[in-house]
Amino acid sequence: MQTSNPMEAILNKLQEARNNGEKMFDFTLSNPNLGVSNAMKSILISVVDSARNEDFGYAPSQGLLSTRQTIADDLNLQAQRNWSVTAQDITIVPGAAGGLCALFKALLQQDDEVIGVKPYFPSYTHYIENAGAHYVPVDAHEDFALNIDNVIAAINEKTKVILLNSPNNPSGVIYSAEQLAQLAQKLTELAQHGQKIDVISDEAYARVTYDSASVPSIIDFYEHSIRVVSFSKDLGLAGIRIGYIETTPNYRMLKLQDKLGAMIRNLGFVNTSTLAQKALLKGLNETVSIEYYQAQKDQIVAILDELNISYCAPKGGLFLLAKSPIDDSGLWISTLLKHGVAVVPGSLYGAPAYFRISTTIDEQQINASKGSWKAALAELSC
Ligand code: PLP
Repeated sequence: MQTSNPMEAILNKLQEARNNGEKMFDFTLSNPNLGVSNAMKSILISVVDSARNEDFGYAPSQGLLSTRQTIADDLNLQAQRNWSVTAQDITIVPGAAGGLCALFKALLQQDDEVIGVKPYFPSYTHYIENAGAHYVPVDAHEDFALNIDNVIAAINEKTKVILLNSPNNPSGVIYSAEQLAQLAQKLTELAQHGQKIDVISDEAYARVTYDSASVPSIIDFYEHSIRVVSFSKDLGLAGIRIGYIETTPNYRMLKLQDKLGAMIRNLGFVNTSTLAQKALLKGLNETVSIEYYQAQKDQIVAILDELNISYCAPKGGLFLLAKSPIDDSGLWISTLLKHGVAVVPGSLYGAPAYFRISTTIDEQQINASKGSWKAALAELSC
């Protein structure tokens, strides 16, 4: 089937290959291939096993108080904010996606603007437009580090939110504490002059980092900050739909968390199941094997190095952003596809010269794909 949407063509080709039993190397995946850890699986089973009838009912809109308190306690211990985090500062959400949608609905009015940074998770545009607002992504530096000047230059009277994503999908860049502190200082000055801008920090990959890299958060530098956290990747629970939103004490008086609970109801999600929230109580400090993901990432990096394809070395996340070896990135991606390798066009992330490679594919497959990468390069004489 002919189509003008580059992603649709790739997905169609993958489906066609599956139907015909042809071999394809699928690097478009965002489903974590490790799935849930054994420890977390045992916890889930024991929670279901000991469940009471009410545990299968609707969960409270902001989440179970016990789970919110456990997350707050954990943040006080591990993140050591300059204030005491309380259960009031935490709302359980059905994944980062659900959390972001509830936040945008709670914070934005018609025609407000949200500034983001390229490259960016493509769903942001939809989440923001669902709230009647507009997404305004700005360029990062060439190495995809945060370009504070560009962010500040994009601010106008319609700007209500700045949306950050670190570790970044798709680049794997982690914004440094220095950059975040600088941005915070500029935004604090603006707030003092009457324009208060909320910063939403999407930290869906906060615990998926390589070489134990830490992830600084703007919440430690700017009082109008909101963190969005997900357990889809680090606990391998993407299908369960669970994450949380953390706000600063500044939002307690504004009762933002109460509003979020109402938004989750109004948007029709209903909060994450009580069973999953009870499992999180016990499994909060579990993670899938990040070393395993790192090994897969290293394997892909080795192939790119060998083929002389340049890329942004990721510090976290489950993706790698590589540069098309020819100017026509569309031709490169379609040639790769012809030789059995599916990747995602960087144009979907605001980075048209690049393509995204998922690192959630096992090492055997990665190795086996090498010949296909070489064949595509040979066809294009690079
Ligand atoms: N934010 C980013 C940057 C993501 O990559 C994803 C999912 O891939 C999400 C949010 C949504 O994650 P969740 O499964 O927690 O809704």
